[in-house]
Amino acid sequence: MGYDSFNRQPRFKPIDHLYESRLRQFTDGGRYVDLNLPKFYDVYRQEIGNLKSWKVPDNEHGKTQRPLWKDINFDEVHWENIGIGYRFGPSWKTFWVKFELDIPEEFLQSEGLEIQWETGSEGLLYNAVGLPLQAFSNERQSFRIPKEYRKLGKQLFYLEVACNGMFGNGSDGFPDPNKYFRLSRAHLVVLNMDARRLYYDFWILSDGSREFQGGTWQKYQAADLCTQIMNVFDSQDSESIKACRELARKMLGNKIDTEEVYDVFPHQDKRIDVFAVGNCHIDTAWEWPFAETKRKIVRSWTTQLKIADEYPEYVFVASQMQQFKWLKQYHPEILTRIKEKFTTNQFLPIGGSWVENDTNVPNGESLIRQFLLGQRFQMNEFGFYSNIFWLPDTFGYSSQIPQICQIVGVSRFLTQKLSWNNINTFPLTTFNWKALDGSQVLVHMPPANTYTASAHFGDVMRSSHQHKNLRDVPAGLLLYGHGDGGGGPTEEMLEKLRRCRGLANTVGLMPTVQLGVTIDDFYEHVLENSNQGQKLPTWTGEIYLEFHRGTYTTQALVKKYMRQGEIALHDLELIAGLVSIKFDKYKYPAKEINDLWEDLLLCQFHDVLPGSCIGEVYYDEVHPMLESLLKKAAGLIQDALRYLRKPKSVKEVQLVNTFPWDRTNEIVHVHKQESPELFQLLEGQNVGIVQNDGATRSISVNSINGETTINNSVDYPASVQEKDGFFVLSNKLLSAKISPTGIVTSLYDEVNQREIIDSTPTDQTSSEFIGGNQFVLFDDEPLNWPAWDTELHSLEKFKLLNNGESQVLVNDELESSILVTHRISSQSSIHTVISLAGVKTKDNLENNFLKFSSKVSWHENNLFLKVQFPTTIFTPPTANYETQFGITTRPTHYNTTWDVAKFEVAHHKFMDLSEFNYGVSILNNCKYGGAIHGNLMRLSLLRSAKAPDDRADMGDYHEFEYAIYPHAGNLGESTVRAGYNFNYKLIAEPIAHTDLFKSVKLEGGKSLVLSHIKRGENDYDVNQFEVFKTDTPEKSLVLRVYESLGGSSSGKLVFDKSLKVDSVFKTCALEIHGEQLRVDDGSVDISLRSFEIATYKVYLK
Ligand SMILES: [Zn+2]
Repeated sequence: MGYDSFNRQPRFKPIDHLYESRLRQFTDGGRYVDLNLPKFYDVYRQEIGNLKSWKVPDNEHGKTQRPLWKDINFDEVHWENIGIGYRFGPSWKTFWVKFELDIPEEFLQSEGLEIQWETGSEGLLYNAVGLPLQAFSNERQSFRIPKEYRKLGKQLFYLEVACNGMFGNGSDGFPDPNKYFRLSRAHLVVLNMDARRLYYDFWILSDGSREFQGGTWQKYQAADLCTQIMNVFDSQDSESIKACRELARKMLGNKIDTEEVYDVFPHQDKRIDVFAVGNCHIDTAWEWPFAETKRKIVRSWTTQLKIADEYPEYVFVASQMQQFKWLKQYHPEILTRIKEKFTTNQFLPIGGSWVENDTNVPNGESLIRQFLLGQRFQMNEFGFYSNIFWLPDTFGYSSQIPQICQIVGVSRFLTQKLSWNNINTFPLTTFNWKALDGSQVLVHMPPANTYTASAHFGDVMRSSHQHKNLRDVPAGLLLYGHGDGGGGPTEEMLEKLRRCRGLANTVGLMPTVQLGVTIDDFYEHVLENSNQGQKLPTWTGEIYLEFHRGTYTTQALVKKYMRQGEIALHDLELIAGLVSIKFDKYKYPAKEINDLWEDLLLCQFHDVLPGSCIGEVYYDEVHPMLESLLKKAAGLIQDALRYLRKPKSVKEVQLVNTFPWDRTNEIVHVHKQESPELFQLLEGQNVGIVQNDGATRSISVNSINGETTINNSVDYPASVQEKDGFFVLSNKLLSAKISPTGIVTSLYDEVNQREIIDSTPTDQTSSEFIGGNQFVLFDDEPLNWPAWDTELHSLEKFKLLNNGESQVLVNDELESSILVTHRISSQSSIHTVISLAGVKTKDNLENNFLKFSSKVSWHENNLFLKVQFPTTIFTPPTANYETQFGITTRPTHYNTTWDVAKFEVAHHKFMDLSEFNYGVSILNNCKYGGAIHGNLMRLSLLRSAKAPDDRADMGDYHEFEYAIYPHAGNLGESTVRAGYNFNYKLIAEPIAHTDLFKSVKLEGGKSLVLSHIKRGENDYDVNQFEVFKTDTPEKSLVLRVYESLGGSSSGKLVFDKSLKVDSVFKTCALEIHGEQLRVDDGSVDISLRSFEIATYKVYLK
């Protein structure tokens, strides 16, 4: 038939938006269910009867219990008959349900047979012998019955119902303790698989018609094809579905029902645009406790194993060795199955770290231990070290991460959180990230801006279109799978991805998404196409997250415990390590120390340490865990010190200095209960200052060349004088003038003849008295995320606390002090002791600072307490903040929006504002937030956010210390050492003279810090793992040295003869050999790059 010369019936051009809106009716049904595809979704459906339920009772303390299947005697529990409508609850309780499945014969012939279970809560299905089969949740309500259970006869199943959703039991940001979950469906269903498959075909085609760009023929062809399918579909004839699917193949191709779709490529060069890998981000605690996470792991991962069985192209990655360890403890049978899927490349452990940790607050050694423990555990279980740091979700990126990665065998980094920046858009997707020392890692941030994509059409498109440097290597990672509370990918996601690929193969326009590939494949692809990374742009230094700035301060107690825990483990490893080498009888407590590290590292999880978990996590789990850690570490230190001789007189007393530098003029508080023997000796000789409580004696100590001297008198005595209501604290080297309201109106450095306090009124400082130690209460109403965020506008609305009352507390040459009391409100107050120590020798003034020791009762709402010091340092464009093993510099101005964004920043033991010849540092013993702008230094103290924990930081327990430390010259080693001295106290356990603690010394470059001494992980009495057993027993010490200030430096490690050093190697932080160093007369020359972190392994005979 040729072209008709006569037009009898006109035809209209469809109106695009009307036709587009209509598409949903085909698969959703709406009011036309009987006329559309949903009519055929099921072949049969019947309710599962015989449901029986048992509620797990609380323990004797009224706490929720979560027993394992194997620990329950199901014959003895009380079963209750339940049915549809039953309500499981309240929040956090556990129920076990059992039922007998009796599959009718006619059901067995069908391809798609499944159990559907709907409660809105999380659940885990077990078979009759306690093997977990698959999880249920809001996102996953069906269980496709595998072959082995498709048979006649009754089969018993168990179902563990956890009364929480994927995101805990929150309501409006607050936990709801009284939530119930209604059983709304318990069905056995036979599916019409053709109808189900057409559903996915149509979904992707209709997405194409909606989401392909205008002006492309593919968009309109997809729309037209959808219309054709709807027109061909016959609601009276289920066989018409076959014709519909045939039509769909015009654009999806004919391979979409199997993994073969990924063997076809649209381009000759087999280019891949999007590497898609499954994952489920299981927050180790957040809106649920650790106890629930242990179950989320087995639920999530069991489910993924099942999907891996059903979809050969499926690859899943899981991080956090702590989670694998829990699985090994509670469900070893699942770990065995994971190892099987590991050998087929379908279930891949990733990340190398113990947990996905915070990187703002943990100290440098902690960051190394995250990997040391994580990598060793992974090597033992899976036989390889991870080469990627997997950290999709964290609240800031320390400037030393690339170096720490490189020294633990990691050269690749993945994160995504930066897309949450609320001021500036980060400009790169794939790039090299350079650390303070010059080390780099290859970074990728998934362009879809999520690590929990639903594998929608749009996610695949965004994985290419939102890539910010497509000009370099035009490939992106798509991380799909439900997450945050676990879960992971669903069958639906796998089906959609097959169709997205089918579309790319057949009509193009769609990025080529590939499955069956690994994260390694992706990074290899980037390297191959960028001349091994050389073509990629570089980002240098800190990657500052412009969000969640409140997390440096929220939940102050966990941060304080973290600082104390890191110090305790530092001291413990040093003392136990050295004692174990000297005394054969002493058994090095390797397992105990390892367990303590595991607990500490667990609490560094990226919601725990930042303070963004629900209260239950802190009060029931984290605080008790860390309190116990501190107690155990103190006990283990005492156990080790017992091997050393005790002093018989005060003259013999030696305190342990755990750093190799001299410390002078240090005030040590000896408590009757904590150090009874030393207290008694001092009391007997009447040495030191008796504090008000009568149970503390403060002594002034010099520790020079490892020898302790208790100072009975000092050359520069401290004193306090009152004049006209003002108080003057002075030791003739430093003088502070304090107003009647407790403001430091002057701090004068008598040695350098400089005033440190600027008393010029500004809108930030104006009060009756202008000066330092000014408490400020900021209005703290972020737009969202109260525990996480503090916002820029907070800085504009504040109150200066000006009602302090001061009085003399102690007037003694060793240390003088005044007490200042502030009322914040009728319920909240601050008691601050401002003290200055007398100075024995002027040679070393590292401890000559004005110290503030505060106790705070804090019962406020949405206020942020900070303390500020206006200084006479006016012009430096940048300020210095201590970070892990180094210094991060940040602007003191607001030139650009990038500078404005850093209005609140993280730091460690000190921050510093210095000109070339003079500066001021603020030291602290447990705080992490602060900011320096212009000449004003502010330390962040306490927040009072109300969600997700409405009790966060409320209480009378806050105690912290900070100090203002003026110094000649720019930022230098004196501040670095003062920061250590302020935190790592001389240990007040009395020992008599011993050379033990002088057996390793570091001489030379003053910016070099010997930050850690520990036993070697593979030592015969330390190693916990089969895989690391050595043929000959090893005995070694491992030393961590870093360059702290940013200049290449050399020095010498000097070993005492008693150590019997055999050989010394420079190693990586996993303690694997590098170069051997020459031992010359008991010492080894070392040289470090600017900000380098070096590890030395010292083998002992
Ligand atoms: Zn997370």
